[in-house]
Formats: sequence, C-alpha cells, structure tokens
Amino acid sequence: MDTIPEPFTLSNASTNPFSRRGGFRVPFGLRDGRVWAPGEVAKGKACGCLCPGCHAPLVAKAQESRRKRPHFAHLIETGCQTGRETGIHLRAKQLIAERQELVIPAWIGDFVDMPNPPHARDDEGRLHWGRQIDCPARLVGLRDIEVERSFGTYQPDVYAQDGLGELLIEIRVTHAVDDGKAARVRMQGRRMVEIDLSHLHRDTPHDLAAFEQVVLFDPANRSWISCPEAVVDWHASKQELDEQIAARNKEIAQQRDQLIKAAKARREREAQETKDKDGRKAYIRRREREKHAGDLAQLAGLTSPARIERILREYQAIAEERVSSLLDSAPPAVRSACLRAVHGDAWVFGVDPALWQLLAYDHFVTRRSAGDRFNQRDVASWVRHSFPYEKALYRLFVAQYANRAEARRAGISKHRLAYWVFTDEENDRIPNFYTPINDFMDRLESARLIRRLAAPVGECEVLPPPAAGWPVAVVGAGKALSGNQSGLLAL
Ligand SMILES: [Zn+2]
Repeated sequence: MDTIPEPFTLSNASTNPFSRRGGFRVPFGLRDGRVWAPGEVAKGKACGCLCPGCHAPLVAKAQESRRKRPHFAHLIETGCQTGRETGIHLRAKQLIAERQELVIPAWIGDFVDMPNPPHARDDEGRLHWGRQIDCPARLVGLRDIEVERSFGTYQPDVYAQDGLGELLIEIRVTHAVDDGKAARVRMQGRRMVEIDLSHLHRDTPHDLAAFEQVVLFDPANRSWISCPEAVVDWHASKQELDEQIAARNKEIAQQRDQLIKAAKARREREAQETKDKDGRKAYIRRREREKHAGDLAQLAGLTSPARIERILREYQAIAEERVSSLLDSAPPAVRSACLRAVHGDAWVFGVDPALWQLLAYDHFVTRRSAGDRFNQRDVASWVRHSFPYEKALYRLFVAQYANRAEARRAGISKHRLAYWVFTDEENDRIPNFYTPINDFMDRLESARLIRRLAAPVGECEVLPPPAAGWPVAVVGAGKALSGNQSGLLAL
C-alpha cells in the first residue's frame, strides 16, 4: 500500500522539517459545517474545502493515485501548524455523532487509590482480597448526541446518552483531560471517557476504515476519566472487604483476649496450687511436730552440755567397779580401743561408754571364734537393748534417719541427717545413735581385733589373737595410756 511521502508526527509537528519546508498533508477539509476526507469531495481546488486549522483554502490531491494516499494540501503555504490535528479532532467527533455507537473502555480501577480488586491486611498482617469489579469494554448505542455542549466550566467534545445515562466523551489529539476538569466531572458524578488519538500512526487518518476503527472500536486507546457506577461498585466491594476484615480483627482480638484470660487463669491456678502445696506442707509439719511434741520439748534439756557432763560423771561412778574388772581381764589392745577418747554421742546409751564398749567387745569378739562374723547393725541393736538408752532422743534420731532414707528413695541426694519438720537447731541437737558404734568398730579394727568386710555393709569378722599371745601390760582402770602402750596397737 502506498504511503504519504513525507513522514511527520503530531507531537512535534512544528519541528518537523517537512512541515516547515513544504507544508504537511491535511487529512480532512472543512466545508458546509462538515469535515470531509479527500475521497469524498471533488479533486483539486474544486473541493471547496478550507483548512480546519487556519481556514485557508485547500486542494484535494492524489485521489486516484496508486502511489500516494489521497490528502489535502494548502493552496498557498500559510505556515499552518494545526490543520492536521484539528481535522482529526473534528472528524472523530463527527464520526461518533453520525455513527451513534462506541466501544466504552473497561474499568480497571486505580493502582493507588482504587486497586481492583480491593485488598487490605488484618491485624495479624494477613492479606484479604475483596470482590473484583468486572466492568469490561463493550459496545454501546448512543442517542441525544450533542457536540461541544457546555457544562459551565467545561465542555466535553461529545455529549450523549447510552443505556446507563449520560456519557461525556473526550477526544485527545494533543492535550489530555486536565486534572481539574477530571475532578469536577467526578465530583458531579458524571461519566466521562477519553479516547486517546495522540499516538495515531501517520497513515491512519488517511485510511477511513482504519480511522473509524480506532475512533469507535479500539478498546486499547480509551479509558474512564470518571465511571461512577464502577466506583460505587468498588466502594461497595471495599465496604464488604472492610466488614470482613473488621469481623476477622474482632476474632483476632477475641482470640488474644482468650489467650490473655487463659494465661491469667493458669497463673492463678498455679498460685493456688503453690498456696495449697505450702498449706499441705505446713499441715504436715504441724502434724509431724505434734507427733514428736513431747520428745522435742525435752530435747534442749536432754542435750545440754551441763547435763551430758553430769550424767557421764554419774555413769562412770556407777560402772567404775565393773569397768575396772573388765579391763583387768582384757588384753591391752582392747583396753586401748575401749578407753580412748570416745565419740561425742557415746553417752546416749545410758551407761558409761567404757562399759558398753567393753561388754559389746566381750559379746561380739571374746565369746566368738576367729573368723566368726557379725554386723555392726547387730552391735547397735544389742547395745540399745542391753542398756537404758535415751528413748526420747532415739525416737527423734529415727525420725531424722527415716526422713533421709525416704529422700534417698525419692532420688534426692542427702548427706545431712535432718528432718525438715524440725528446726535447724533441733536437727543439730539430736544425737546420732549409729556413729558412736561406727567409731567403736573403727577402733577395734585399728587394734587388729576385727576386720571389716567389703560386703555386706557393716559386716565384720573376728580376727585371731596375735600368734605370740597378748603382750603383758599393767594398766590401771581408767588411766590414760602411755605412748609405749599405744605402740602395742601396732601389733
Ligand atoms: Zn491550515
């Protein structure tokens, strides 16, 4: 297909070298209040058309050319800059008015102010999508068409009515609808479409079918300046979305509230449990202390140093003769083992410690044969049953001992012999009924009279007397041992 020989564009027509030199090709001419294409009028000067821009006479050219498209040119060069675009503008309005139909554009929303579909985030930051406004491009019939009808401060290119009411149509060839005008139209709730012809191919105005297509039917070159029905629908969708998010936010708030309440209830329950536990503990302490009340009441008196000193003196006086006789018949090593500084709690068995030790030695060692075995638990039991031990103190000691055993069974490592229902002072005052026995066994072992076995716990074996017999020594009952006699222990 032939083309117009001189290329030019609308946007920079004034700087186009061809327009300056020989004048541009005018696509439409004006005559009798109508805009004509060159093919619709007589050729040459006889066309009787004026330039739509400068109103100078035009000549119709190349109507039958096979090489060039038909066009108008100024009869005399006028330096006209607007003939082409004004012609396009007028012809487009005329086309719409005469054809009475138009493709109106799709409404796509506004990326910033009216995203379609609307979307927003809830209080947890989750994105919610609203209903999309589906308003596609479509062909509408037009009636009551008026060109350049005034609306006071503005005047649309074409005014018409379609099935939905009035429709204002703007045709952009050089200038877009300005923001002020757009705002006024929107404020008045009117519908306005802009058809953008500013980027037409230079040949299009010279091809009537192509020109008709872009003006009336091309959905890609038009957009809504104002589309109240879509905006109303969009706001309805936004409202639905806002309500949906508000409902979700309410749920979120309720869930948070429930979590807070649950946490509070848990803290209160835990506090109550602690209180109950403390209460139970206090109750057990009270009950246990009541069980031992009589013994505890005596504890301080029974364990005062003055009393211990006094009863030890009394015990010694009472047992003196017997101890003396036992010592006389005992080998020196035994005397030494039984008389050496005894354990601090050795008084609890109610007799002179020398006496219970000498008699225990007699019972478990002297009367047995070498190799016989016994357990120190048996010694403890025998001593308790043989002498008037301190029963109140023994009961308190047993309570301590049982408590430690219970703690150990529960997996709690506990060395100190103490019972939690007793005070620290009470626990410290209660004498130990086992350590004096252990201590005595240690001394018998050091004197080579017995030996301890690895197992079971507390098991001891009677050792044979020294091969050379017990060395002879003269030791008075109750007398301190000399260094020389101590040396005998090494035998
Ligand atoms: Zn002109």
